[in-house]
Amino acid sequence: MAYFIKILFAPLLICLSIAPFALAEDDPFIKNRQFMVEYDIKGRGIADKKILDVMLKVKRHLFVDKGLQKQAYADHPLPIGEGQTISQPYVVALMTEALKLKPGDRVLEVGTGSGYQAAVLAEIVKEVYTIEIRKNLADMATKRLKELGYANIKVKHGDGYFGWEEFAPFDAIIVTAAANHIPPSLIKQLKDGGRLILPLGSTFYYQTLTLLTKKGGELKTEQLGGVAFVPMVGEAQKDSAR
Ligand code: SAH
Repeated sequence: MAYFIKILFAPLLICLSIAPFALAEDDPFIKNRQFMVEYDIKGRGIADKKILDVMLKVKRHLFVDKGLQKQAYADHPLPIGEGQTISQPYVVALMTEALKLKPGDRVLEVGTGSGYQAAVLAEIVKEVYTIEIRKNLADMATKRLKELGYANIKVKHGDGYFGWEEFAPFDAIIVTAAANHIPPSLIKQLKDGGRLILPLGSTFYYQTLTLLTKKGGELKTEQLGGVAFVPMVGEAQKDSAR
């Protein structure tokens, strides 16, 4: 009998003893991510449980170059090539929380970059549409998001200044590049009751994270603090756009 039990449980014991190692191997940065969520995100006032869960779930290190993976959970932005950056984790969480997203929402992002912010959004809402003006970054993000299995994200190479008419209107819009004015098409493509967040101000220095809510044809504005984003290029920088 004792022998029988041993045989029966042996595979189970092997599984149990292997499991923690297998996990650590799959996810070598789990501790870094827990620390980031606890201190840099929750510690700074982000309270929405869904946002905290998603920041813990999405593997930020998979959105940067191998050589930068060790820094992926540090409290600052990181380069993603072509002079662009992936935002500081806290800023990603803050902007996402401010949009007050619901599971059935359809969201537009301007500035795909690495695809990290899009992945965070896609864990919360039904559909994410994201536009990137730099072809190389758009291609890399498309490939990465596909490999990670995000079937609810559509990436487009183009100028996000004009939004994405084909899939408008959106419940929420997030702009992750700095502009000195709000692109009119984005306001048009926002649903009534929808929210739009963008770093608004000087595209050379600092901006104010600005949250707009569209209600009955009017825009309510809230300022959420100072940030420094890379500039929105293309039409946003042309004189005709001002
Ligand atoms: N959200 C990204 C980081 C954004 S960095 C992430 O999670 O990694 C800003 C990005 O906006 C850059 O990749 C830049 O190329 C892009 N960008 C700048 N101007 C743009 C425009 N007019 N339309 C679309 N993307 C733009």
